[in-house]
Amino acid sequence: MAEKIVIIGSGPAGWTAAIYAARANLRPLVFEGAITEDNRVAGTLPLGQLALTTEVENYPGFPAGDLESYLDHSLEAARRAGMAPHQKEGVSGPELMELMRKQAENFGTRIVTDDIVDVDFTRRPFRLAASNGESVEAEAVIIATGARANYLGLESEEAYKNRGVSACAVCDGALPRFRNKPLVVVGGGDSAVEEGTYLSKFASRVFMIHRRDQLRASKIMAERAMKDPKIEIVWNSHVDEVLGNDREGVTAVRIAGATDGKKRELPASGMFLAIGHTPNTKFVEGKLELTAKKYIKWTVPFRTNTSVAGVFAAGDVADDYYKQAVTAAGTGCMAALDAERWLAGQE
Ligand code: NAP
Repeated sequence: MAEKIVIIGSGPAGWTAAIYAARANLRPLVFEGAITEDNRVAGTLPLGQLALTTEVENYPGFPAGDLESYLDHSLEAARRAGMAPHQKEGVSGPELMELMRKQAENFGTRIVTDDIVDVDFTRRPFRLAASNGESVEAEAVIIATGARANYLGLESEEAYKNRGVSACAVCDGALPRFRNKPLVVVGGGDSAVEEGTYLSKFASRVFMIHRRDQLRASKIMAERAMKDPKIEIVWNSHVDEVLGNDREGVTAVRIAGATDGKKRELPASGMFLAIGHTPNTKFVEGKLELTAKKYIKWTVPFRTNTSVAGVFAAGDVADDYYKQAVTAAGTGCMAALDAERWLAGQE
């Protein structure tokens, strides 16, 4: 028999959609993603981008404080044991995601630890194929597979992720390790400027490394960066290597000139990537309308509908603008309500 609702993805959007759908007695089935080396390398493991960060200080409801015993009581021992020790500073990304997952489970959400790799939206019920070869039918589908930050692809960059290398200044910029220290931002778009100006509040200096001689950022944003006394734009340059050690994490970034290849080191306790995101939409290409940047297109203003009736999208997979955990959770809630009302209309 077809599932009433299948949710694909396990970030804040997916779990919030599951909590709402479960409480509406829709018995949601969540495909949370597979635990594979390919997904690890791509940054698409279960629990999404938040699981790749450390402290989360901007998700409402988790001020500084010790959650240790709450986590111990809320989560199953086996899953709790696999997590990093609690840092007593509010909540970490992995902790927040485990709590959301558990909350969805508590209301009857069923979870499959696998990827959906293909979909057939031309028939009803819809058919979804998992990577283990099995398929499932669903009357309604919520896609919440998120997006992944683009990285340069250097080995040294990978080695210092979470120890100075980050793709989210808003998430990580205020951490003590970055305060009053020089920092590097890579990119020349609006995000790079936004990250640079945000970081300049904490950093002693911000080097913005851009590969061309002109910013891609909008004029007003570009002017903001150029006027900021703490920001120095390093033109026509790319990052050659991230330097550091086990004790301190990142200590410097080596850059190379685009034309002469000349190398030099910039002291930095962090490197923030702002070279764009890639939405996880490969499996719906040609099946749903996507934007020019391959995000799922919301087809009705202020609703989570997609180009196929009965298929809804939530979170970063459909949002290249806000990209926050709390906005993803918000649209996850919206998608569950939209799906519930759509299903009711079908009966
Ligand atoms: P973006 O506009 O695509 O800019 C990406 C930047 O990264 C470009 O400058 C690009 O260089 C550079 N880049 C890409 N790949 C690179 C690589 N491998 N090595 C070095 N540099 C690389 O992305 P975004 O800045 O994240 O912005 C995304 C969207 O969100 C845009 O529409 C933007 O307007 C919007 N946004 C708006 C605001 C705001 O209004 N406050 C804030 C943030 C984002 P090139 O320029 O050479 O291509």
